[in-house]
Amino acid sequence: MNLTAKMARKWLILFNEKIQAKQDYLSELDTPIGDGDHGHNMARGMTAVVSVLNDTQTLQEVFKATAMALISEVGGASGPLYGTAFMEMAKAAATSDQLSDLLSAGLAGIIKPGGAQVGDKTMVDVWTPIVTEIQKRTLTKIEIEEFVMATADLLAKKGRASYVGDRSIGHIDPGSQSSGYLFESLMEVI
Ligand code: ADP
Ligand code: MG
Ligand code: MG
Repeated sequence: MNLTAKMARKWLILFNEKIQAKQDYLSELDTPIGDGDHGHNMARGMTAVVSVLNDTQTLQEVFKATAMALISEVGGASGPLYGTAFMEMAKAAATSDQLSDLLSAGLAGIIKPGGAQVGDKTMVDVWTPIVTEIQKRTLTKIEIEEFVMATADLLAKKGRASYVGDRSIGHIDPGSQSSGYLFESLMEVI
């Protein structure tokens, strides 16, 4: 499965719509196990992303502009992590337009600076199974949401949620939920 610049712009526009609609919910998820700002961080970042999309032509430009907007606007842990994911996707887009290559590069861009492993209750727990499956098939919204929900059972070992220790168990990870919206949006354009 390949991705064009047009599809990527549509993907980010749909992601922005979900982030704006769900920003309060995302910040509520971040309240018991974090500092309650994830939805508002992402909403600010995605507003900046959609405002720069019109200036992009190639797939590489779409991802690079997205990365820069997220890094400069989101703040918090998630800004640099999503930002680096899109920056690595921009680099990968120089040699491939295959979704599996692009998303693998994006996941590497989250793991390298963040150091999270599968099971640490971070967005890596949603990205990893999706990157694996996307090599073979598309996923349904229900399947994506199952990966998001599964983070509730995990004990946080990275990020702010790790500060609350055992009390992180039973709560969905906010960055995993926003990543779920990212991939639901993607499935709507491919
Ligand atoms: P902050 O925690 O700085 O307020 P946000 O609330 O915007 O930032 O983002 C929190 C999300 O970032 C978490 O729910 C988690 O998914 C993700 N996250 C935090 N640390 C890491 C990490 N080291 N690796 C991957 N994802 C992380
Ligand atoms: Mg937060
Ligand atoms: Mg914060």
